[in-house]
Amino acid sequence: MSHVHIIGGGLAGLSAAIELAAQARVTVYEAGPACGGRARSFHDRSLETRIDNGNHLILSSNELTFRYLDLIGARHTLTGPGLPIFPYYDLEDSLAWTLRLSKGKIPFWAFPGGRRVPGMKVAELGALLRFLRAGEDTTVESCLSSGELSRRLLVPFAISVLNTDIHTGSAKLLGNVIRKSLAKGGMACCPWFPAVGLSETLIDPAVAYLSRFHAEVRTGIRVSAVEQKNGRAVALETSEGRIELGPEDQVIMAVPGPVAQSLLPGLTAPNAFESIANAHFRLPSPVRARGVVAQAGFVGLVGGISEWIFLKGDVLSVTVSAANRYADRKSSELLATIWSEIRRALDPVLSQPLPVAMPPSRLIWEKRATFAATPTQDQLRPGPRTDLVNLALAGDWTATGLPSTIEGSIQSGLQAVSALGYRSAVVYTGS
Ligand SMILES: Cc1cc2nc3c(=O)[nH]c(=O)nc-3n(C[C@H](O)[C@H](O)[C@H](O)COP(=O)(O)OP(=O)(O)OC[C@H]3O[C@@H](n4cnc5c(N)ncnc54)[C@H](O)[C@@H]3O)c2cc1C
Repeated sequence: MSHVHIIGGGLAGLSAAIELAAQARVTVYEAGPACGGRARSFHDRSLETRIDNGNHLILSSNELTFRYLDLIGARHTLTGPGLPIFPYYDLEDSLAWTLRLSKGKIPFWAFPGGRRVPGMKVAELGALLRFLRAGEDTTVESCLSSGELSRRLLVPFAISVLNTDIHTGSAKLLGNVIRKSLAKGGMACCPWFPAVGLSETLIDPAVAYLSRFHAEVRTGIRVSAVEQKNGRAVALETSEGRIELGPEDQVIMAVPGPVAQSLLPGLTAPNAFESIANAHFRLPSPVRARGVVAQAGFVGLVGGISEWIFLKGDVLSVTVSAANRYADRKSSELLATIWSEIRRALDPVLSQPLPVAMPPSRLIWEKRATFAATPTQDQLRPGPRTDLVNLALAGDWTATGLPSTIEGSIQSGLQAVSALGYRSAVVYTGS
């Protein structure tokens, strides 16, 4: 049986490992103390509770993600309203509304009398068609028309999906996401997120699945070099010594782009990044909401810094995407602003108002959360094949046609498996 060495135990590496577990001997080398990479849960000492590094939303259209969850037996660990509903609060206008997408393809929700975005004009929907038809160099901004649909929905949606501002964000990447979600109808847009934590949903069940197939997952081991000879990878230098590769052995490199470039000099990869900040607040008791906010488990915010508030028992977690723009602000200042935004948005739907004084809090900056999803950066993404016949690339930064997402990273792992000649749910046909 051939042996596939997978460098990196994030979602891309785990997706490849799961796909290969029944086809080859598999070893995963993960530098961190646990697998998960940018999608992980951990015990936070300052809040004295377990939190995720950042809130992650999965749409029902993410087919490869749901296939992965089914394989590892973890679909039931997701929670969500089961319907395409998104409660919103506009901080500029102090206005709450709920976007209820029509279940089918015809956007009845957008017509007058539907559950539409307040103040929107039907003509603004033309932007969706422009995203779907966008060329390589088109930016999000150039597809938008001005109006409340753009301000209250399309701009925040684009920033969340791309983690990049609308002036530079790629309309083509956004269009690819819309083609797989909104264009298929509301039921492709049901929001889901882990009921307990990212690791409990996406990582721990994957590691348990791999152990059932006797795949080895080695954490705390960093690969520092890949030795090459005659167009093949022949050895890995690691923090625990050298690993010689046999003539049939293969490698999937599923590390972040800059790490891959250091291991494979000359590799082209995205070189501009965007951060995501997540603010976590620990309350003395679980927060209980009413109505649609209780049903959804989250609220989208527009007109402020905060974008999404997730209600997780006694923890309120807020996402701020494309956060490079706030990099020079003090953490304490950002947390105070976010806390006041949370109170304004949530107090009207809570059985008990939130305390005025900010509770214990923690701000987590993921400085290189994603590559900057601009047309230029998108064109720097390599496919899975490399100059080494037995080494393939995976990672959300490789060419998947999607922005940096869970779906993209899982797809990239499957592409790498196919590129090495194994059976895979995604058949890679590129060069
Ligand atoms: C805060 C935040 C919020 C997000 N929200 C969403 C969301 O709502 N929806 C969504 O779909 N996506 C979201 N994403 C994106 C998603 O998390 C990523 O696309 C995905 O986790 C990337 O997985 P990956 O395996 O490609 O990379 P990574 O997770 O970066 O995995 C790479 C792994 O390689 C390991 N490694 C690095 N160097 C070495 C080495 N030398 N040797 C061995 N191992 C090494 C790392 O430790 C890491 O575990 C979010 C990301 C962040 C940061």
